[in-house]
Amino acid sequence: MPKPGYPRNIVEFTREFATDEACLAYLVRCRWPDGFRCRRCGGVRSWPRPDRKAMRCASCDLITSVTAGTAMHRSRLPLKSWMWAAYLVATDKRGVSALALQRQLGLSRYETAYQMLQKLRSAMVAPERTQLFGVVEVDETLIGAPFRGRKERTARDKAVVVGAVELRPTKKGTRPGRIRLRHVPSSSKPRLMAFVKDSIERGALVVTDGHETYDAVEALGYEHGIESTTLGDAQKDVLKHLHLVFANLKTWLEGTHHGRVSKKHLQQYLDEFTFRFNRRHSPQAAFQTILGIAAKVPPRTYAQVYADEPADPLPF
Ligand SMILES: [Zn+2]
Repeated sequence: MPKPGYPRNIVEFTREFATDEACLAYLVRCRWPDGFRCRRCGGVRSWPRPDRKAMRCASCDLITSVTAGTAMHRSRLPLKSWMWAAYLVATDKRGVSALALQRQLGLSRYETAYQMLQKLRSAMVAPERTQLFGVVEVDETLIGAPFRGRKERTARDKAVVVGAVELRPTKKGTRPGRIRLRHVPSSSKPRLMAFVKDSIERGALVVTDGHETYDAVEALGYEHGIESTTLGDAQKDVLKHLHLVFANLKTWLEGTHHGRVSKKHLQQYLDEFTFRFNRRHSPQAAFQTILGIAAKVPPRTYAQVYADEPADPLPF
C-alpha cells in the first residue's frame, strides 16, 4: 500500500483531518503503510486510542505509540492541533509566527504556540545530505540592514552568508533548483571552499563572479565558470538566480521576522528558508517532514520476518 496522499487544499484538509480519530488513522497509515502490526505479538488487529496518540493491539492489549520520535510526542495537545500547525507551517510561504499560530489554533497561551513552532522547526534544521549537482551558482551576501528609525548598524553587525543554487534547464533557459545557505564568520578562502566542498558534488560546474578567491574551486575538482560585468556581462545577468534567492531571503527576514534575527540564530533561519525553498513544489513532503513522519520504516517483527503474508485490513 502506498503512503497516504496529501490534501490538495484547505477544504480537503478540513475533511481529512476533521477529528483526532481521523488524524490518528492518517498517522497510522504513514507509519505502517502495509497496515498496523504489533511488535510484541505480531497481531494485525488493533483499536485506535486517540487520547493516547496510540494503537491498542486487539490480541495482546499492548499500547503502541504512533507519535514516538516525532514533534507530537509527549504533547498534551490534541493531534488535530498538531496537524493544523504542520499544515500552516508547510503551506505558508512566509512562515508562521507564534502569535499567528496561537490565534489560528485558538490556544490560550502564547508559550504553547511558541513551543509547538520550535518543535516543528527542529525537523527543518536537519542538514540535508545530498549535494547540489550540475550547474551551480555560488556567491556571498551581507545580511543585516539598518533598523528602520534607528542608527545605522556598523559593518561588524552584518553577517556574511554564502549561498549556492542549482540551475535546472528549461525550454527558455534555466530555472533555480535546490539551494544551500551558510552563515560564515568571514568570506575567507578556507570558509568558502569548505562550503563548496560540503554543498556541491565534485565535477559540477561552479559559476561565480570574477573574484579570484573562487579560482580555488578548480583545484578541488570542480569546473569553474565566471560571470562578471568586467567580462562584459550585464549586471542583471550576473549570478541572477542566486541574487534573486538572496533578495527573497532578505525580504523574508525583514518581513516575517522584522529584521530582528540575531547572528546567533541566523543559521536556524537560513535552514528554515532553505527547507521551504527546496520543497516549494512539494507541500506533501514538507508536511510529513515537519511532522517527523516522512520515510519512516517501522522495524520488522520476528513474526513478519519469517511469515511475509499480507496484513489484514485494520478494524476501523
Ligand atoms: Zn500484540
